[in-house]
Order: sequence, then C-alpha cells, then structure tokens
Amino acid sequence: MKDNVIEFIRDYYQTKDFIPLHEPRFNAREEELVLNTIKSTFVSSVGKYVDEFENRLTDYTKSTKTIAVVNGTSALYAALYHCGVGVNDIVITQALTFIATANAVNQLNAQCAFVDVSKDTLGMCPNSLSEFLESNAVLREDNQCYLKSTGQRIKAVVPMHTFGHSVEIDKIVEVCDYWHLNLVEDAAESLGSYYKGQHTGTFGHYGAISFNGNKVITTGGGGAILCRSEQDGIELKHLTTTAKQPHAYKFFHDKAGFNFRMPNLNAALGCAQLEKLSDFVSNKRALAGEYEKLLAKSPYLFVKEPRDCHSNYWLNAIICEDINERNEFLEHTNKQGVMTRPVWELMTDLPMYEECITNNLENSRWFAQRLVNLPSSVML
Ligand SMILES: *Cc1c(COP(=O)(O)O)cnc(C)c1O
Repeated sequence: MKDNVIEFIRDYYQTKDFIPLHEPRFNAREEELVLNTIKSTFVSSVGKYVDEFENRLTDYTKSTKTIAVVNGTSALYAALYHCGVGVNDIVITQALTFIATANAVNQLNAQCAFVDVSKDTLGMCPNSLSEFLESNAVLREDNQCYLKSTGQRIKAVVPMHTFGHSVEIDKIVEVCDYWHLNLVEDAAESLGSYYKGQHTGTFGHYGAISFNGNKVITTGGGGAILCRSEQDGIELKHLTTTAKQPHAYKFFHDKAGFNFRMPNLNAALGCAQLEKLSDFVSNKRALAGEYEKLLAKSPYLFVKEPRDCHSNYWLNAIICEDINERNEFLEHTNKQGVMTRPVWELMTDLPMYEECITNNLENSRWFAQRLVNLPSSVML
C-alpha cells in the first residue's frame, strides 16, 4: 500500500524528482506586481499594496478590520498583547500545535496551560477546555478568571485550526464567554476554511493568519490579524506600526509600539496570491477527495474535514495504526523522495514547556504517535 501511495503522488504531480510537502505556486501575475513595486521604489513601509492586501482580506474573510504584519507569530503576539496578556498571566492553548502558538505566549512573559485536542477535529476540544477550567479556575468578584492554585490571572484562550480543519469554535466561544476569557484564534493554517459558513479566525476577538512560504498562499514571510471590533483594529494598526501619530514631519509616538508592519514588497506578492486563493482551495479539496478514495481500502485512515467545516485542506493527513506503522511509512516514503512528515511533538514534551500546567492529553498523545502529513501542494 505504501508503494500505491507513492505511485499515486508521483502520478498526480507528474514528476520523478523529489516531491516536497507543500510548495508555493506563482505565475506572471506575482512577477508583475512584485516588479511594479521594485520599479516604484516603494518596497518598504510606504505603498499601496499593504492597504489593498488588508482590504481584500477583509472582503474575503468578512472580518471587521484586517492588519497585515511581518509573520503569523507576530500576529498572535500583537493580538494577545492587545488582550492585556502580560507577565505571569496564563493563556490556555492546545498541546498539539506548531511551536509558534506557545512561543507567542512565552514572548509576552506569560505561561501556557495546555488542554487536549478533539478526536473529531484535531484542534482544541471544547470539553477538555471546559473541564480544565471547572477543575482549575475560579471567577472572582472582580469578574476576572484566576488559576485557583496560584492566583494567576487566566487571560485568554488560543485554539488552533489544525491543517485547516476548524475546531468546534461556537462551543469554545461559549466557554470563553462563561469564564470571561479573551479568544484569539490561531488561524495560521486555515485561510479559506469555514465553520458553519463563517470564516475561521472571525469568531474570536482576533484571528491570526500566516503567509509563510508553506501556507495556502504566501507573501514570502507575513501574517495578518483579523479583528472583530473596528476600534480594536484601529488600535492594533497603530500599535504594530510604532504607534506614531500621523504628521507630515514630526515624530511623536504615544506608546511603546512594535515594528510589525508588512513591507509593501511582500504585500504585492500577497495581492497576486489572493486572486488565486479560491482556485487553490478548490484544487486542494479535489486532491483531498482523491487521497480519500485511494486510502479507503488501506490500513491508513484519511483525515477528513470535520462536521460543519468547509476545510482548505492545507495539509492532507493520515492516521497510522500505531507508531511502528507510522515510522515505517515515514522511512519508506522519504527514502523514495516523497516527503511526508510526522505531526509536531506535543508542546509538553519540549524542554521549555514541560513544566506547564495541563489537562489530560490522551487524544493529543494518540495523534502524536500516528499522524503523518502527505504532499499537498496545489497542482494546476
Ligand atoms: C505557520 C503557523 C504560525 C505562524 O507562523 P509564522 O511562520 O510566524 O508566519 C502559527 N501557528 C501555526 C499553527 C502555524 O502553523
């Protein structure tokens, strides 16, 4: 069966060369817009493409306001900062995620608490979140949420839409509302994915998107913050662009802001890529359909989009029977020049996060031993 998978992938991408997990696709349009930017000399912090990129993202996702930044990690960092996350606060996220989710919390000198993922979505399990809060948290008279054991403030919850498949975000919204917690969605992998018809990243106060080279569309490096409130969006734009008050020549900054603005050169690439996003998503969904058919009669379980989710299928994935099967699959495919990859190590298994407080992580551990990603680039 491993060889059938390899044969299918080689057929699909029509090459005998190395096949990467996910590579970007450009054509003349990207060249045109990037070249325009170079010719105009406005490659940096001034230029029309940043505004255009932000506006088109707002239209596409139906967020209230969108802010383009230098990468997805800084999008998470700025969103959490604006929620008031600071020294010694607790932020709850999932144990099975890419390192950036936890690092953004750590960079604010806050601490992560890790809850389990759901077997159905691969993302944060609303029951695990709720259980964790029931056992560990208390709402005090000031209407704020605290960790019972230490008295630390619990400030925010960060669910992540794994491989583009959405979590049950409406249930997580309910839990956050009950406990008075800010909700920041790590939608880095889920541009083009919807839950019950609404774009991922627009349910929480903020959603963070990534345009790194391996994501659905790319700006080289880049990210965006989807904002639910116009006012928050205006404040975040100010904060991520050095908090300078507009003036023809004076330098007055009213806060200690960040230099997180996306350069115009990257935004130009992003504008060209956004024109293709709908086609990319259809293309990826078609590939997922073919993988599903191929694997139906195999020992591998193909990961399908969860109920109520219209997924971008950023990375296709299978579940192997056990860790030995997984290792054999990884060995065999990579040796044949077809790149496959295990899922991330659990955050709690990494040295800098192993002391963090956690809930039972049964599903996360189960997936960590069995998940494998398959090549998922768009093929036009
Ligand atoms: C890609 C990614 C990010 C952000 O990555 P950047 O490289 O900083 O753009 C954050 N979280 C998850 C889950 C990601 O996959």
